[in-house]
Amino acid sequence: MARIRDDLRALSGYHSPQVDVTVRLNTNEAPFAPPAEFVSTLAQRLAGVEWNRYPDRAAVSLRTGLAALHGVPVEQVMVANGSNEVLQSILLAFGGAGRRAVVFEPGYQMHAQIARNTATPVEIIERDSEMLIDIRSALASLSAGPPAVVFVTSPNNPTGRCEPRDTVRALVEHAGQHLIVVDEAYVQFAGADLLDLVSDGAPVIVTRTFSKTWGMAGLRLGYAIGATELMSALELVTLPYHVDAAKLIAGELALDFVAEMDARVAETVAERERLRGRLCDLGVDVGPSEANFLLIGTGSRPAVMVWEGLVEHGVLVRDCSGWPGLAGRLRVTVGSPSENDAFVTALEEVLR
Ligand code: PMP
Repeated sequence: MARIRDDLRALSGYHSPQVDVTVRLNTNEAPFAPPAEFVSTLAQRLAGVEWNRYPDRAAVSLRTGLAALHGVPVEQVMVANGSNEVLQSILLAFGGAGRRAVVFEPGYQMHAQIARNTATPVEIIERDSEMLIDIRSALASLSAGPPAVVFVTSPNNPTGRCEPRDTVRALVEHAGQHLIVVDEAYVQFAGADLLDLVSDGAPVIVTRTFSKTWGMAGLRLGYAIGATELMSALELVTLPYHVDAAKLIAGELALDFVAEMDARVAETVAERERLRGRLCDLGVDVGPSEANFLLIGTGSRPAVMVWEGLVEHGVLVRDCSGWPGLAGRLRVTVGSPSENDAFVTALEEVLR
């Protein structure tokens, strides 16, 4: 048999268990489909694609649209197959042996996973008691050691908390030879973003995705915004024509529906607060969240038993209790009002 790389052999990969249930609140997808007009127009436009030709390798049109949306130069935008692929490109270009990835736990597990896939040593810094970045430990790490790719996630998955602007600004100011990546996969559900930290010369890349707020997880489209020289570095490691013709068209068309998507995001935020209120009324331990999910504690009951009980009631949530620093925690995605009601009813019965 072919021999897998020794450093990968011990790894188990990152998978959200998929179970066949009616209410799926485990992967932070949007509960709504994109607007019907988007879907019908996309079908028409796809009929005109010259499938025998490679797509625009530089994705100029889509990148121009994203640049206009965010008010940045097109040279500061890079697109890829989901923000996970953006993160992988970042680690291919800036990680690797002799360098390191700095992650804050608890946090998004794929940052460390992709780092390991790219043979980048991982340094873990524990969050403070508020589940926020402990700036002293972070700055101490930056002041010594090899070049680092530092992953900040705001709002953080799975805690739902945003990092204070001053924390991230301090990291950028002290970055030196290091790179600060601000993963904003959920930022439209929050009050403020950190995009203004990006400028030519600044060692910071912000990553975004169409998977959550755009309700287009099936499209696999993500992007990065960062200094021109950083985007040129990412170009060195991306495969030719990595973003296909259909995705380029769909992504550009989606930008005509910003108002509709903003309205859907506002609905999800309102629904998040309604769900949080209902859980508080039940006496469930639930923290504040600025994302489209809530992290709940299962108290004296083992989280895995509560998770199983919910599955028996046809509701799938994410069991985070095995993740570092998250004993007794489950993460529930904010779904449609009826899905959220089904979850609360099931939880009530399981906890009874
Ligand atoms: N970053 C964070 C924090 C996430 O939670 C996710 C999705 N789980 C991603 C990035 C990746 O999203 P995608 O690849 O679908 O764009």
